[in-house]
Amino acid sequence: MNIKTFDSRPVALPIKKIVRENATTNTYVFDYLLGSSPGQFVMMWIPGVDEKPFSVAFDDGNEFWLTICNVGGATAELFKLKEGDKVGIRGPFGASYKISEGDHLALVSGGYGAAPMYFAANEAVKKDCKVEFLVGARNKDLLLYTRKVLGLGNSVNLHISTNDGSTGFKGFVTEVLKEVLEKGDVNKVFTCGPEVMMQAVGEIACGAGVECYLSVEKYMKCGIGVCGQCAIDDTGVLACKDGPVMNYADVKDLPEFGKYHRNSVGKKCKF
Ligand SMILES: Cc1cc2nc3c(=O)[nH]c(=O)nc-3n(C[C@H](O)[C@H](O)[C@H](O)COP(=O)(O)OP(=O)(O)OC[C@H]3O[C@@H](n4cnc5c(N)ncnc54)[C@H](O)[C@@H]3O)c2cc1C
Repeated sequence: MNIKTFDSRPVALPIKKIVRENATTNTYVFDYLLGSSPGQFVMMWIPGVDEKPFSVAFDDGNEFWLTICNVGGATAELFKLKEGDKVGIRGPFGASYKISEGDHLALVSGGYGAAPMYFAANEAVKKDCKVEFLVGARNKDLLLYTRKVLGLGNSVNLHISTNDGSTGFKGFVTEVLKEVLEKGDVNKVFTCGPEVMMQAVGEIACGAGVECYLSVEKYMKCGIGVCGQCAIDDTGVLACKDGPVMNYADVKDLPEFGKYHRNSVGKKCKF
């Protein structure tokens, strides 16, 4: 096992294992004492290509996982690497989801957001929490982490939704959340996924009087609060350092939230 060094310098780590999750998503396993908490991210340097942020999907002190979708230039190059090839890792960085002993959590995920939510569920089980794990996708082939969640035991209930009804509830994951919150037992909602989904989750949680924490994803370059690339308009709040996990109450009125993000050169891109 590799031993952790100074966390803002990259360490070169061999990819221990690559797990195919679906047609566009792989999980990369590394033997390394990362020491991360759910919601935190690492910067991965893909040699000769670029350095990109990815949320930690699991970390038990011996190995950690990153679940990555192939969406563009850097991730396409990553998908060409094989087990044993090396990448650079810096981190862990950023704020995490805070789990207290005995919480009853609703974890709501879309897309690769299921991965950090799985890490949160794993830690929640260790703290005697009850977990409602809500996972949504366009269709059954795009669902992530459902089998792994089923392996977490009886204190975790899995709720699946698909837009096309190919499995689970037919419709949006937010409809399932409404039903779960109506029962009145959940005391915190955590969410990770597309920003428009997280905005809807935040509104529903707020309406039910339940605290909600989400992962704010902005274009990140340094990951440590130096470059200012991920500053949120009108606030200067840095998503990499003050987030990515933030309270919905603090982000809901920000001008960018649910409307647009800024790309690598700061240009506004509408959702
Ligand atoms: C805190 C955080 C955690 C993330 N966790 C994951 C994860 O667990 N799994 C996963 O698949 N993806 C995750 N991402 C998104 C991931 O960083 C981008 O998908 C990746 O950088 C795409 O790079 P690309 O060159 O392949 O694609 P591009 O074609 O460059 O971009 C595709 C999309 O990714 C976004 N993106 C590109 N570069 C960055 C960047 N440096 N920072 C933020 N967004 C970027 C673009 O805005 C665009 O929407 C996370 C992003 C952030 C900010």
